[in-house]
Amino acid sequence: MVHSARIDRVAAKLTAARLDAIVITHLPNVRYLCGFSGSAAVLVITSRDAVVFTDGRYREQARTEVQGCKVNIVTGAPLAQAAQWLNKKVSLRRVGIEAAHLTIAERNQLHRVLNRRSSLVGAPALVERMRMVKDSAEIALIRAACRLGSKLFDLLLKKLTPGVTEATVAGELELAARKLGADQMSFPTIIAAGKRSALPHGRASGALLPPRGFVVCDFGVILADYCSDMTRTLHLGRPDRLAKQAYEAVLEAQLTALDTVRPGQTVGEVDSAARRLLKKRRLDKFFTHSTGHGVGLEIHEAPRVGAGGTDVLKAGMVVTIEPGIYLPGKWGVRIEDTVVVTQTGCEILTNSRKELITL
Ligand code: ZN
Ligand code: ZN
Repeated sequence: MVHSARIDRVAAKLTAARLDAIVITHLPNVRYLCGFSGSAAVLVITSRDAVVFTDGRYREQARTEVQGCKVNIVTGAPLAQAAQWLNKKVSLRRVGIEAAHLTIAERNQLHRVLNRRSSLVGAPALVERMRMVKDSAEIALIRAACRLGSKLFDLLLKKLTPGVTEATVAGELELAARKLGADQMSFPTIIAAGKRSALPHGRASGALLPPRGFVVCDFGVILADYCSDMTRTLHLGRPDRLAKQAYEAVLEAQLTALDTVRPGQTVGEVDSAARRLLKKRRLDKFFTHSTGHGVGLEIHEAPRVGAGGTDVLKAGMVVTIEPGIYLPGKWGVRIEDTVVVTQTGCEILTNSRKELITL
């Protein structure tokens, strides 16, 4: 039911987008629209039809997963077969493609097979925009993924010890995630200690945890196809006054931004709430990324919660709020929660504590 309704919504948007058909090649969009989670698939939607093309490896999986559209098991490239199918529909002139999710080679392949009546047109991000607002079943899945993430944090506190490598800590965390039922991590785990904490995306390395300094831990799991995302920064040994002040400033910025999350607010306003607070502490120049991003079937999806962002928050959107500051060559601090926008504000889904923890 849910999938056929989603496909119908896309079909209903085609006319306004001046398209006769759309070729969906971005796999998370395919998964969202028809339930299919295999790694080779093309979904074609017209105002009358919806067909997913995949190959023989996925016959059984497609049979159990796909809802709301026909399945066409093909030999050869699903994209070429989709184009041939389109050729049989005489009235299809403007065929939309997901320009951000198609290689030039794939575009050329489509172009070669499609007959001359049809032209390929970059389609607007119809599906990405639909995916921004989650239904209650999706929110339940993200909540479950976040709950697993928070459990991992409790385990992490026992594993962070000076002298072990960042990679060891990440590995133990990832093993625990698997044991607790995660399909996989939603991105390579970030454990960045000491000077490496100043790298906003410092993947766990062979570096040893130092006796003293910050450790940025950013991790998430995929559970039933939906992602979680959270960051906590801990301190090994006693923090000095400057480290404490920096931590308090980031926490205050994060809480202030969380306070602004509610329906009707633009994402740009949420971003500037965090930035304003850090500016008061003269730390804004060290806040070098945006405040957050949407989370769902993908770890980074719309909307981007960044400076000047005009997307308006609606109940059901799931975003992260993750201000951070990074002093090159010294240290960094980031605090991140995944939250769902409610009717009146937001609910934090990653419920681990946020006061500075010293280990
Ligand atoms: Zn994160
Ligand atoms: Zn994030």
